[in-house]
Amino acid sequence: MEKIKFKKKYGQNFLSDTNLLKAIVADSSITNQDEVLEIGAGAGALTSCLANSCKKLVSFEIDKSLENILQEKLKEFNNVKLIFADIMEIQTKDIEKYFNGKYKIVANLPYYITSPIIFKFLEESKNLISMTIMVQKEVGEKMIAKPHSQNYGILTVMVNHYAKVKIARIVKKQMFTPPPKVDSCIVNLQLKNVLYDENFKRFVQTAFSMRRKTLLNNLSKLYLKTKIESVLVQNSLNLNVRAEELTIEQFEKLYQDFRQN
Ligand code: SAM
Repeated sequence: MEKIKFKKKYGQNFLSDTNLLKAIVADSSITNQDEVLEIGAGAGALTSCLANSCKKLVSFEIDKSLENILQEKLKEFNNVKLIFADIMEIQTKDIEKYFNGKYKIVANLPYYITSPIIFKFLEESKNLISMTIMVQKEVGEKMIAKPHSQNYGILTVMVNHYAKVKIARIVKKQMFTPPPKVDSCIVNLQLKNVLYDENFKRFVQTAFSMRRKTLLNNLSKLYLKTKIESVLVQNSLNLNVRAEELTIEQFEKLYQDFRQN
């Protein structure tokens, strides 16, 4: 990897350990029947492992200067389509046109846009089955956090609303070139096919807007206090309950009750 000038602004922390790359592919459970989207091909280490294991691979990379390295690395494969573009600039429906139907995402994500990428696909995708992605360990911990814990918040509720979440493995920072500041983990998200609802997102964001305040207080930005009190009572919840005490299912149920009342 000596020839590469790593670009920090693009979150370029590359992998090369063959055992780890194989483990990530195994974590994604892809088979030779699967079509796969990779975000951030880098120098193609994960790309070639994925190409070996799936039917078709579409891989995006923002950094055009990696083109020669990638073409060379991937020359033996005829099932890979490389696209040099910023994934955030391309509409999800246009990305989905590259696939014949259902597809899976497997990626060592650039950390400066982890959440925007995850929510782009959770909210907008029509045919996505799963995401197996490298994220910072603390982001993974937020995704699997339990109510009443400090890590439990908007990210936890929203990700679990859309998907079943599992941490597949922890990856030490030394496994990357150059090493990032913190350890990472591989997270597996199995999509539940929940439709995007802007109002549910606003509901959850508002519920957590002031963490120390009660749900009643925070939600009063959206609803009348009398209405909030009656929905809380109807759900056998204390009027002093705070957002961090509610399970994902309680969030979903409360939201429905507010809509119906
Ligand atoms: N897959 C490689 C690996 O595992 O070694 C590289 C992973 S590196 C963490 C993230 C890659 O995403 C970098 O190659 C970076 O240039 C690319 N990238 C960053 N922002 C991007 C964007 N908006 N769209 C597409 N690729 C992007």
